[in-house]
Amino acid sequence: MTDPRARAPAVWAIRQVERRAGRPHGDGRLVLVAIRYNLRRELAFGMEVKRLLELRLRQLERTLRGKEERIVQLETENALLHLKLAKCRGSVKDSKEETTCLRRHLEDVRNIQKNTGCQLSQLFAGVKVLKQELKSLHSLAMDLSDQFQEKCKATLKEFLTVTEKQHLLTIDTNNLQGQVFQLGKSLQEVSGKYTAEKNKRKMLHNALIELRGNIRVHCRVRPSLPFDSGNDATSLSKRPGTASERVIHWIDDETVHVKCNRPGHTMVNKMFQFDRVYSPGDSQESMFEEVRPLLTSVLDGYNVCIMAYGQTGSGKTYTMFGPHSKENFSLSSEPQFDEGIIPKAARELYRLLSNKPLETHSVKVSIVEVYNNEIIDLLAKDNDGTVLGVKRDILTTVTGASKVPWLTYEHVENPTSILNLITHGLQRRIKHPTLVHAHSSRSHLVITITITTKVSAVNRSGMSGVTGTALRETSFINRSLSALSDVLGALAEQRSHVPYRNSKLTHLLQDSIGGDAKLLVIVCVSPAQKYTTESLQSLGFGTRARQVQKGHIRKKSPVIPENIGGRSSQNKSQGTQRSVSNFTSVQ
Ligand code: ADP
Ligand code: MG
Repeated sequence: MTDPRARAPAVWAIRQVERRAGRPHGDGRLVLVAIRYNLRRELAFGMEVKRLLELRLRQLERTLRGKEERIVQLETENALLHLKLAKCRGSVKDSKEETTCLRRHLEDVRNIQKNTGCQLSQLFAGVKVLKQELKSLHSLAMDLSDQFQEKCKATLKEFLTVTEKQHLLTIDTNNLQGQVFQLGKSLQEVSGKYTAEKNKRKMLHNALIELRGNIRVHCRVRPSLPFDSGNDATSLSKRPGTASERVIHWIDDETVHVKCNRPGHTMVNKMFQFDRVYSPGDSQESMFEEVRPLLTSVLDGYNVCIMAYGQTGSGKTYTMFGPHSKENFSLSSEPQFDEGIIPKAARELYRLLSNKPLETHSVKVSIVEVYNNEIIDLLAKDNDGTVLGVKRDILTTVTGASKVPWLTYEHVENPTSILNLITHGLQRRIKHPTLVHAHSSRSHLVITITITTKVSAVNRSGMSGVTGTALRETSFINRSLSALSDVLGALAEQRSHVPYRNSKLTHLLQDSIGGDAKLLVIVCVSPAQKYTTESLQSLGFGTRARQVQKGHIRKKSPVIPENIGGRSSQNKSQGTQRSVSNFTSVQ
């Protein structure tokens, strides 16, 4: 089985050679040569094989290297392809997401498209309507344009006419200017005449007032009020014989009738005449109409005194101030329909002053209470403004005028300040310790408004109001009222001595009721039978006061009298010639 060449190649080769040489068992030399030769051939062959094999090896190595390189290359390519694959997978994923988004977007777009389609169709309809409107507007515009053109033509025509007219007017204006110049001249003449007439009117007014007497007495009968009934049952009030029966009757503007026929009493049936009688229905306004001319007199330089006289409850406060409550007295800064003489007079005074040149006048106010024959300054104040009930003295100066040294005067600029001061003064009157229990009927309230005016001629004015509360059995009030009566009596009889100094009230009012001052006494009466005695007393006082004007019509004095509180000396010290006048109110 085993190949003999593989076991002993050299021996096998010798045998071969000997067989060929026919000497299967020749001598060894030839065999050796043959072997040597074979060996050489074998060697050469082996060398050749070796060379070929090496060549082949190198080839194979090269191929191997090439393959290895190729493998590396392929691996690299493979890696790259893997990368690409991963990338592609990523992009596929992105693309998928994008596609989803795009799908959604597409859906939205489709919806929008759908809506837009609807809107578009609506818009188309709108556009159609608008087009129609535009068409009609266009035709309207055309019409308007035609009309405008026509109007322009007409306006142009008018303009031409107006220009012509203007030309004519310019000529007229020139003529008118000439006339205006002439008119200006005549206006100056008329103004001169007007001033002369005004002065004449002033003189006539004063003459009229003087003719009516410097003391006038009016009577006011107030309406019946619930409290007049006293103890009467309300339903039975005003029946004959009861306390509330009306016994005082207004007859006409100058006459009042007192008729009382009460069983068991003296019968009364008396007529009284006054300069003016006001009925219960007469308003505050109609009453003030009678007072108004006195305010003109104040600015003409006269002292004016308005005095309300009557028993408690007869209407003095109502007449002088207006409706009021005892606890809380205040005057409104706004004009009120039913306000009394003082607020109306304050406003009227400033209305009259507003017609005068500015800076020519100054106004001041004093408020005093005459209580138990003592003068109490209701405007007095210390630094805290808390002083109450400061007493003042009254003196007679060398010229015979009355004067209250240290009396407080407050300067005022408008009616509101006057009314605020009065409200303040009256509230202090209520708080006053000595008066806290005293009813106002036991004291007199004297409000004086003093106007100082710079004048070229001597001029005086003033306003006084006296509200006399009557007939309480209080000795001081009776004394001051009888002193007032005595003063008026002395004036009526033209006695040389007038007893002003018998009471503080008459002393204080000396300038306002004596001399050439104008005095208005308003006698207030209640119509009720309950007050008959007191009403008869008041009417009697009024009648006596009226005698004064009958007895003597006094002429205005050209002398400036000294005023209450020594204001004249103060004015003199300022070195200006001034007129000083008072408006006084007494209650
Ligand atoms: P006096 O001051 O004299 O004591 P009042 O003025 O206080 O009296 O008047 C007493 C009451 O009568 C008040 O309630 C007042 O309002 C009322 N009164 C007075 N006169 C009139 C009038 N003419 N019209 C309406 N009420 C009046
Ligand atoms: Mg009163």
